[in-house]
Amino acid sequence: NLAHFGLIGLGTMGAALAQNIAEKGYPIAVYNRTTSVTDEFMANAGDLAPRLIPAKSLEELVAAITPPRAIILMVPAGPVVDQQIEALSPLLQDGDLIIDAGNANYADTERRDRQSEGETYDFMGIGVSGGEEGARHGPSIMVGGKPAQWDRVGEMLRAISAKYDGEPCAALMGPGGAGHFVKMVHNGIEYADMQMIAETYALMRDGMGFDATRIAETFEAWNKGPLASYLIEISGKVARAVDPIAGGPMLDAILDAAGQKGTGRWTVIEAQKLAVAIPVIEAAVVARNLSAQVAARARGADVFGAMPQSLPKDALDTDTLEAALIAGKILCYAQGFDMLGRASEEFGWKLPMPEIARIWRNGCIIRSEMLNDMASALAANPGENLIFADPFTRLVKENEAALRKVVIAATGAGIAVPALAAGLSWFDAMRTPRGSANMIQAQRDFFGAHGYKRLDGKDAPHGPWWDKTAG
Ligand code: NDP
Repeated sequence: NLAHFGLIGLGTMGAALAQNIAEKGYPIAVYNRTTSVTDEFMANAGDLAPRLIPAKSLEELVAAITPPRAIILMVPAGPVVDQQIEALSPLLQDGDLIIDAGNANYADTERRDRQSEGETYDFMGIGVSGGEEGARHGPSIMVGGKPAQWDRVGEMLRAISAKYDGEPCAALMGPGGAGHFVKMVHNGIEYADMQMIAETYALMRDGMGFDATRIAETFEAWNKGPLASYLIEISGKVARAVDPIAGGPMLDAILDAAGQKGTGRWTVIEAQKLAVAIPVIEAAVVARNLSAQVAARARGADVFGAMPQSLPKDALDTDTLEAALIAGKILCYAQGFDMLGRASEEFGWKLPMPEIARIWRNGCIIRSEMLNDMASALAANPGENLIFADPFTRLVKENEAALRKVVIAATGAGIAVPALAAGLSWFDAMRTPRGSANMIQAQRDFFGAHGYKRLDGKDAPHGPWWDKTAG
């Protein structure tokens, strides 16, 4: 037996990943619950067939792999992963490694890591981004685990990963659930990137009266500038696509209700647990929730009058929109990296921040040119928020006015831009030395005697109201 690797779950991602691994020269044994799927996979294996070893049972799979084994799970996140671990573990021996490569919640990965202690098998969780195409030809891989585990599988993972200027987009993030946590924040940022792009689309379509071709041309132009990224690229492509059924722009035939599998929501929940501010991502998740309320939105339009209205002529141009999106994107990533930094401290992970930006430069859904500069900025300014690191300080200064102009124009016309507006509000708060939380502190002291700090440092922990109410 040549294979040291095995893979369970030949669905969309598993099949593509197995082919990628075989293509890079690693023989791999594969198993799928439904055997006909395995048969079909092998029938389509072509040149890769000699390096793919099909197994009809877990016993056959384990027998086909030479110890020490590393077995990748590519099955739906949640209970199925636990079931697979339970079914596999009696068949394994010391030194064998189970790798969960699905979209697990990082807390489940931490639990499974703990559970593996004293068992016959070792466990690690890795986040894989890039969809089917990425899995087949080079995903971005965010690895959680011990350095010794990374030493075992790192060479293979780097080989199958995407490359940016020849550098592999796969790296060890930290122990336990660190890889899946970074993948989760990646997905949260993905929600925000997509939402901000959708907001600029709404401004062009409803506010500026652009047709689909002009919208497509605008995204195509942006993809040649600072916003160059996979998501801007595909936005141009979908705007240009023609509906094969009814003719006309494909976008116009699609219901405006966004689906979600929950990783964006997880990001928001974990941010709240950490008490960090990621309002752009929060706004993006809320916008998806709200988009699904199709009937309520129609009722709202009936009762209160339909929005949006078109913008006054010449209120906005595409250069201003582009600049606003640049600012919004930077503010969003500043929040995402801030969340990673806080999680790193809280969990003692020592997350390699510049490395995270580096492995996001290619393979994953949020891949973009800007991430290359972010990697350098995070390396040159350890522990610093991205907005305080050049060139991003300069870029925010240059593009802030455009963001404000867009939010004001959108608000005036009733075009909802929750993510861009959330970015702007966060930015305004971040440059307000004297905020309004003194009012909150006074209220808290009034009703709950929670106390406050005085600006002059004098020792008087309660306000005059408290003396009175206390009688
Ligand atoms: P698919 O639905 O395409 O495939 C699921 C696979 O899991 C199939 O092989 C299926 O086998 C198997 N499976 C399902 N239920 C069970 C079960 N109870 N016991 C044993 N095997 C089972 O999913 P994807 O490939 O899209 O996703 C796999 C993982 O990768 C998920 O965690 C997903 O979140 C993650 N992921 C997906 C991405 C994507 O773009 N699709 C991107 C990044 C991560 P069978 O043929 O028998 O049904």
